Amino acid sequence: MPTAKSEKKVVTLAYGCQMSERDADTLTEISGQKGYIPSQDLEHADLIIINTCCVRESAENKILGKIGELKRLKAINPQLKIAISGCMVQQPGALERLRKRAPHVDIWAGTHNIHEFQRLLDESDERKVAEVWEKPKETLESVPLAEKGKLKAFVNISYGCDNFCTYCIVPHVRGRERSRQPQDIIEEINALVKTGCREVTLLGQNVNSYGHDLQPPYDFADLLKNVDSIPGLWRVRFMTSHPKDLSDKLIEVIAAGQHLCEHIHLPCQAGSNDILLRMNRKYTREYYLSRIAEIKKQIPQASITTDIIVGFPGETEEDFEQTLTLIRQVTYSQAFTFMYSKRSGTAAAQMEEQVPLDIKKRRLQQLINLQNAQSLAWRQKMIGHTYEVLVEGPSKANPDRLTGRTRGNELVVFPGESRLIGTLVQVIIQDASSWTLYGELTE
Ligand code: SF4
Repeated sequence: MPTAKSEKKVVTLAYGCQMSERDADTLTEISGQKGYIPSQDLEHADLIIINTCCVRESAENKILGKIGELKRLKAINPQLKIAISGCMVQQPGALERLRKRAPHVDIWAGTHNIHEFQRLLDESDERKVAEVWEKPKETLESVPLAEKGKLKAFVNISYGCDNFCTYCIVPHVRGRERSRQPQDIIEEINALVKTGCREVTLLGQNVNSYGHDLQPPYDFADLLKNVDSIPGLWRVRFMTSHPKDLSDKLIEVIAAGQHLCEHIHLPCQAGSNDILLRMNRKYTREYYLSRIAEIKKQIPQASITTDIIVGFPGETEEDFEQTLTLIRQVTYSQAFTFMYSKRSGTAAAQMEEQVPLDIKKRRLQQLINLQNAQSLAWRQKMIGHTYEVLVEGPSKANPDRLTGRTRGNELVVFPGESRLIGTLVQVIIQDASSWTLYGELTE
């Protein structure tokens, strides 16, 4: 929608995980309270926010390139404000380095300072500002709602992580795990539903350990039960589940839930016990497979997805082969595959026996080929069956068609009228690729 000339426009870019997207929504919301209207028009923005990710060095380089590009816009419009927030800024010693590299940036905010963004915006009228706390100091409940009026929203249930997987920077930049109070989460979702939201994704680095720090005792299964009964909410998703904390009780609750989607994202990361140990994942291949067996027993229709890293330091051909056999055994509907790359500040970056790049590339391709075939087989089995689809909007690849997702989170493309956007429809599947289902409305 075009904005009046006097209106100030904010463009927010989020890099990385859903946590980063949720933080970016919060920053957009806070700037809205200062009169900024969300926009996608970078060239004419009055405020540009980049919420950063530092999980992979390649992502970091891309973001640095983007921040560099903004210098040109600042030269054209000196009134433009540029704010950089998130994990990259939070890394020990990063602020000083980044400020030197990008003096055209007006606001720097760490992951624990997002709720202070309004003050930082005000102060940036006078000077360049930076606020990066080493640890969270204030209550987590003062962060405002995500952008209103969306069909789907992310809701944080916990922050930080206690797991210290040896390849991961998250515990170092987002701190120890802290659970939000259940009543605050429920209130936030109720408020979102009132604005038209119909699907929430509960977010935490490890949702399954939610509540370990709460009194009286209250865990993730309890939270799911309470969220499931919120009137007006159609779908509840959650991520990410750590296999070591996926209890039978939790699987039972998901199986019995009315609005709890039958989609479980359960990162295995590797199929070899030696590599899992080196990754400090705190489970074995056998334990992981026992969790998969329990899911399949209680929720036979569950769509299970995963994350896998290939080429972790010390990974032999035999270790890699065990990852392939695990994938064949589980039959994931989708997998997010990554080639290990060193992340400074993590334990794995110090490990000897780094795997040569050409071997990592070859293994990644092998993995992708296998998973693509499995994803296709998974979707082909859905042909001829009818699924409930939440209609999200026009398909990006086929704008004359609609797109939406099944409860299992599979993407579906089908012909239909735009009045169906935001509703639940029944679609019979007629064709499939590795990533997409194609179908027709049944009514
Ligand atoms: S569970 Fe492991 S991979 Fe996930 S955020 Fe925590 S340390 Fe990182």
